[in-house]
Order: sequence, then structure tokens, then C-alpha cells
Amino acid sequence: MLIFRMKYGFLMICLLFFAILPNAVVAAKEQPQTYRLTVIHTNDFHGYDPYALARKATIIKKIRAEVPNVVLLDAGDLYVRGPYQKVFYGTMEMAALNQMKYDAWELGNNEFKGTDELVSADQKLYQLIEQAQFPTLCSNIRNTDGSYLTGVKPYMIKTVGGLKIGVLGVSSMKVKKYTQGENKLVEDPVMTAAKLLPEVQDQSDIQLILSHAGLSADVQMDMKLAGKGPALIIGADDHYVIDQPIYRTGGIPIVQAGGENHVYLGRVDLTFEKKDGKWIEVSQQGRLYPITKDIPMDGAVKAVIDQYMDSVSKRAA
Ligand SMILES: [Zn+2]
Repeated sequence: MLIFRMKYGFLMICLLFFAILPNAVVAAKEQPQTYRLTVIHTNDFHGYDPYALARKATIIKKIRAEVPNVVLLDAGDLYVRGPYQKVFYGTMEMAALNQMKYDAWELGNNEFKGTDELVSADQKLYQLIEQAQFPTLCSNIRNTDGSYLTGVKPYMIKTVGGLKIGVLGVSSMKVKKYTQGENKLVEDPVMTAAKLLPEVQDQSDIQLILSHAGLSADVQMDMKLAGKGPALIIGADDHYVIDQPIYRTGGIPIVQAGGENHVYLGRVDLTFEKKDGKWIEVSQQGRLYPITKDIPMDGAVKAVIDQYMDSVSKRAA
């Protein structure tokens, strides 16, 4: 009886061992390395109620506190047509963006426009670029000698949570028709992005395209570059309110967060898995936060705006 028990016990241990072992091996094999990136995006603010920036900042702070890997990007057209465009030429909005610690912005077509005769369009453009405490991107509008505009980069690479994120910036062909476009080389954004992408890929794990080229160009970009790497196209220019589901055509999700009096903060949560040494996008979820008056203002950003607004009332006095 004792012998039987011992034999039985040994058998049970063997059975248990073989039952657990294969599962453990499979579990190790199937456990892929995953990485999550949250992209917060804004575009086409156009100098709308500046305090809307302080409300956006509140949500941005909340997201940053909730998730570890965040990039904050603006896709351009910051101030033109707003009530203070000829007072501050976008410097008030840029001061707020600095306070919010943006990671990069892309030049919109309106950044190249002249808003009055007193200050040249180029002067205003370079003033903003100089003020930005984060990279200004634009790869397809360059000086006529082919060099990039002073202070402007075609793309930037930033390490977020141990992975290198490459952000490639393109703007609108519209600039070609402006008088301010005469001393510049304005190239097709889709062709430029396709040409530069391999260079960005050599230096980064994940690639994003920050585009002020407009939705039709973004769709072309998607058709041309789908399956070739870019994880997301952050759009702008035509002020589309693209909520769930994220606009998809060839395979790259395209987002855009309204514009002008349709003020939204965009968010996309991307998940990647490492397969054969490459980070492959496996899911994406987008949403837009409408910026309404009931969202409290971030104190630090409000203080920045207050300073500018105080100087307006002092000027008027
Ligand atoms: Zn715009």
C-alpha cells in the first residue's frame, strides 16, 4: 500500500511537471514585447480665445500623469486670423506652447503669410521659430539654395520610454503661391516625406508624420507609405474634426483635431509589438476632447496669457 502510494505520488509529480512545462515554454514564446505611445495633437488654433490653451493644458497634464509615454505635437497655423494676430504675431500663443512643453510643431501655411505691412512675413516667421523652445519642423519648404530655413529641422528624433520616436514634418503647397513663397523652395509634401522616410527610419524605432499638408495630401501619403513604416499621420490645414474611428485608407491612421472655432485636443493611443527586431503597430485608438468653458484652466498657462493680455489693456490705457 505504501509502495503504491509512493508510485502514485511520483506519477502525479511527473504528470504535473509535463503539464506545466509546455505551457511555460509557450507562454515565454507568446509573450511579445509591447510598447505604448500616446500622441497628443493640436492644429489650426488660429489665435482663437487664448484661454482655450490654458484649458487644453489641464487635460494634457492629466494625460501625462496617467500614461508614461507621451508626445505632444502641434501641426501649425497657430495665430493668423485671431483677434491678437497683429498685436503679438503669435508670440502669445507660442509662449503658452512653451509653458505646456510641446515636443515639436510643424509650420502651417499661415505662418508664412503677411498679416500687415509693418513687419515682414519672414520677420514674424523667424521670430516664432526662435521663440519656440522645442523643434520647429518643415521638410518641404526650404531656402532657394536647398538649405533648410534657419532654425527649422526636417524631422526630429526624441527618446520616449526607451524608444526613439521620429517625427517628420511637412507643410502645404499653398505657400508656393504666396509672395512670401517667392524666396523659398516649396516641394510636394508626399514626395518629400517618401524621400526622407528611410533616413528617419535609420535613426528611430517608430515614425510619425506631422503634416500641415491637408487631408487630400495626407490620404496620398497614406497610399504611398502604408506598410512602409509610419505609424500615424497627424493632419491639419482643412480643420476636419476626425473623431472615432480614426480615418483610415491605405493603412496609416490619419487624425485631425478641428481648427479655429472648433477647438479640440486630439489624442491617439498606439500599441506596438516587437517582431523580428522591428516595432509593429498592432492597435490604435483615437479620441478628441472638446475644449469647453467648463474645463478648468491650468494656472501656469493662464498666467502666461494674463501677462500678454495685461499688456494689451496697458497699451489701450
Ligand atoms: Zn488653418
